[in-house]
Amino acid sequence: MKIKRIEIVGFKSFVEKVTLDFQEGITAVLGPNGCGKSNIVDAIRWAMGEQNAKHLRGRSMEDVIFGGSETRKPLGMAEVSMIFSNQDGLAPPAFRGYAEIMVTRRLYRSGESEYLVNKTPCRLKDITELFMDTGVGARAYSIIEQGKIGMILNAKPEERRYLIEEAAGVTKYKSRKKTALRKIEATRHNLQRLGDIVSEVR
Ligand code: ATP
Repeated sequence: MKIKRIEIVGFKSFVEKVTLDFQEGITAVLGPNGCGKSNIVDAIRWAMGEQNAKHLRGRSMEDVIFGGSETRKPLGMAEVSMIFSNQDGLAPPAFRGYAEIMVTRRLYRSGESEYLVNKTPCRLKDITELFMDTGVGARAYSIIEQGKIGMILNAKPEERRYLIEEAAGVTKYKSRKKTALRKIEATRHNLQRLGDIVSEVR
């Protein structure tokens, strides 16, 4: 899955709607210090489901909403949409046939938030699953920020293995296995309780 376009409005320094088109090849974003280059990376990470405000260089999630400037009042909502091409067919089977996938995240100052895929409301889990094993995602290897290369080189073998598993497409199955094991445990617990009740009423 490749990022084709990103639309940002009300997110950090992007008070007006800004659309960035990513062409084939390398895209470089240039600008003076503090003009908002890193805010674009934050917007990408946020739209893909980042839950930790510190990873977006903020104290609370509300910090991603445009907080006002000398000439503009603060806004009440931040919205980021990312448009991916699904030409490589890496998205889950539910998206087969879609040439493009649009992922949107909104946050209101009231704390209310929304996730949408192709303009249909969905859960955060759906967004996370959509990106699993594609290499894209809030924490995936598609975002290599300053210092990350050093971190990868210095990482313990188990930590480095996480990146390899993501690239190999194993992460999705590991996550599903974890969910299935949790369900099995809950069912085992229920069966035990049922056994207790049966022996009580006998
Ligand atoms: P550098 O080259 O120094 O790394 P940069 O171009 O990457 O800079 P960013 O860090 O992306 O710049 O943007 C910083 C700017 O974004 C600051 O001017 C800051 O005031 C503004 N900013 C961040 N969050 C908000 C917000 N919630 N509301 C308004 N402006 C914000």
